[in-house]
Amino acid sequence: MIAVTKDFFKKNVFSLLYVSIYQGGKNMHLEKPVTVKTYEALHKRIYFDQKQKKIYYAFRMGYEGEWEFGQILEEKDIPHALVYDSELENGITTQLDFVVITSHRIYLLDIKNHSGIYHYEKGDFFKNGEKSNNPLTQLNRAYDVLDILLRRKNIKLPIEKKVIFINPTFTLYGNEPDFPIILRSQLDDYLAKIKLQASEINDYHHKIAAYIESCKVNRTHIDTKISYTYESMAKGIWCDNCHSDKMQDRHKYFSCMNCQQFELKSDIVTKSAREFYLLFPNEKLTSSKLRDWCGNRVSRKLTGKVLTKNQCK
Ligand SMILES: [Zn+2]
Repeated sequence: MIAVTKDFFKKNVFSLLYVSIYQGGKNMHLEKPVTVKTYEALHKRIYFDQKQKKIYYAFRMGYEGEWEFGQILEEKDIPHALVYDSELENGITTQLDFVVITSHRIYLLDIKNHSGIYHYEKGDFFKNGEKSNNPLTQLNRAYDVLDILLRRKNIKLPIEKKVIFINPTFTLYGNEPDFPIILRSQLDDYLAKIKLQASEINDYHHKIAAYIESCKVNRTHIDTKISYTYESMAKGIWCDNCHSDKMQDRHKYFSCMNCQQFELKSDIVTKSAREFYLLFPNEKLTSSKLRDWCGNRVSRKLTGKVLTKNQCK
């Protein structure tokens, strides 16, 4: 029996969860933030009440908006280095969605996937008459933290901050011209302007990206305040694409009967193991426990192989 602690996964597998890509905008692949992964792993396995569902969908919507922005940014082919999904701490903790480093400027972009009609009035944002979080306050806080970090290294590139409302249904009444806000209808023009000014980047810009990367608070798990036990959770395997549990056994693969996606069994088991460590960061995983976690849908030989492979990486 192979017993594996969280440490090897932390070192080998978990590190994959936090990969933020800083490159020239090619083959961009945004890893899901740990918050989204944790809620997804829980949602499949336990019952969520209305409040928990709301939080889960909000995180998922947020990530979908970021993913969409990532695709658009990639399409524009702007030479840049990127740092995605950073949690930074400098007395206060702040979240930075996208830091796009171009030849002439650093863009701090906060992506919001809000839908519907919002009103701005006397410093506050409202939806359906209810006060909502002020995205500009969050943006300013993120700007301050990033500014301090860059000054510390004497990095002189100017920072431009924007909140990008990616959802085309989002409307804001009371928007003021000097607000650092880009609506979806303005996004193409905004990115075209950036592209026009941007020339090729060099080592200096990659080093800035690596520096911001190194300042990140990397979390291996988050506290959702949701209580659960291993015993009380549903076990099984789920489609990575549509989250359906209708997975048909096809020798080395599983195929999803809902969306027809095929996935290698070893990949599904690896993801299941990652989810286990997300939800139980202090527990050991054995080949038989991993098999149980997968609803006994795979062999112990395979779960053992997956654990060994990741240990040896
Ligand atoms: Zn599916």
